[in-house]
Amino acid sequence: MHRGSLLVACALAAGCASCSDRASPPNILLISIDSLRPDHLSCYGYERPTSPTIDALAASGVRFDSAVSTTSWTLPAHAALFTGLFDSTHGLFDNGLRLSQELPTLAGELRTLGYHTAGFFGGPYLHPTFGLGAGFEHYESCMTAVPGDLSEDELRQESRSAVGRSHDDVTGPRTLEAVSAWSTARPTDRPYFLFVHLWDVHYDFIPPPPFDTLFDPDYGGSLDGRGFMSRPEVHAKMEPRDLQHLKALYDGEIRFTDDVLGQLLARLRAQGALENTLIVVTADHGEEFFEHGGKGHQKTLFDEVLRIPLVLNWEGVLDGPRVVADQVRIVDLMPSLLRAAGAKSLPTMQGRDILPLARGERLAPAPALAELHADKRDFRALRTLDFKVIDYGRAPDGRALPIQGFDLGRDPSEMQPLRPGGGTRVDALHAELERSREAALALRKYLGARAQHTAIDAELERKLRETGYLGETAKDK
Ligand SMILES: [Zn+2]
Repeated sequence: MHRGSLLVACALAAGCASCSDRASPPNILLISIDSLRPDHLSCYGYERPTSPTIDALAASGVRFDSAVSTTSWTLPAHAALFTGLFDSTHGLFDNGLRLSQELPTLAGELRTLGYHTAGFFGGPYLHPTFGLGAGFEHYESCMTAVPGDLSEDELRQESRSAVGRSHDDVTGPRTLEAVSAWSTARPTDRPYFLFVHLWDVHYDFIPPPPFDTLFDPDYGGSLDGRGFMSRPEVHAKMEPRDLQHLKALYDGEIRFTDDVLGQLLARLRAQGALENTLIVVTADHGEEFFEHGGKGHQKTLFDEVLRIPLVLNWEGVLDGPRVVADQVRIVDLMPSLLRAAGAKSLPTMQGRDILPLARGERLAPAPALAELHADKRDFRALRTLDFKVIDYGRAPDGRALPIQGFDLGRDPSEMQPLRPGGGTRVDALHAELERSREAALALRKYLGARAQHTAIDAELERKLRETGYLGETAKDK
């Protein structure tokens, strides 16, 4: 398959609103801050000054108030970010798997368009063994706890301990130096796509000084942010003062990472590397602090783990400040960034170009499919701007688990589950959830067949087009 044929570059074409009539396509800087909750950022209304760098980007750019991931953990969320596909479609929902190298990726498509593509990562699930390095000309580990030159077999064999060791890693400064070195030597005859994964906000919460005491200097208890998932004293009924301290340490990690981001932008700017650059700041998922009884992530699909921040800053093109209230999805980033680069969306992507929203235009609402394969269960959710349904699937013994609805307008904390039955809104959205998931699985089958160069089932293709999962995003808006 010749992927380049799927794209029609229009960056140089006059009159293209999405490309802003620029003489050359922009650099694209995509920042993913692992485990970052938007409601812990100052620009999203948080009371602590956690995010001066991100706040400044939002103040002269576009902040999306309701952005959501496809899941609540690192690996499938980044696969969705890199493919524009929901988890059932890209298929990378477990750490024993590898992203199909036949799937078009953001880096691969931008490379086809002539971009120099580089990625830097600080956490183990971004390791190339999982296939997420596809399309990057330069893809570099900035982990210090896990050797970056570990072979794929070695990483797989010690995956569990490697992940564990990464939790007390501090990778921001190393990432800063690695990106700086790359930028100094990068080719300047073509635009770049730079992906930077900043890991330190992910537990454990051990920010370096002065960020360790920044938000809770008077704490005299015994918790230090280490062993967040393993320490028995960190539980749902723990001492409120200790929980308060853990949140202060999480906030310290955010401020530390925001500081690293600020230094990174300053260095790139000093090199002239931020001219005509679309900067995107987002995350893969959030973090739970016992809002629904649990801690960490990869356990539920509640909003504290599903919602992510999203800020776009493109000086001279996206005039800010603007706040977009409409719901957008992590799968929308790939089509939007391809569009910014002057390309059409790929016809098979499930996300859509959200640059019109960033320009103040309107788009029809788009529901967000979220899925989680955890504890031998598959559960899933469908979220709209003001309503959500979660289907907990089946227990290992085959027993059907509950379906819950949440009126997010009246119950944004998801504390008052609504039951299905009687033709309620829960029933309607649950039926849409089932249709969405079936369509996602069918699209996976379609893409798998295409990758193997086998004939596409005409009936399957017709169904995908009917359900809007094929061809809809191919329109040149
Ligand atoms: Zn993550």
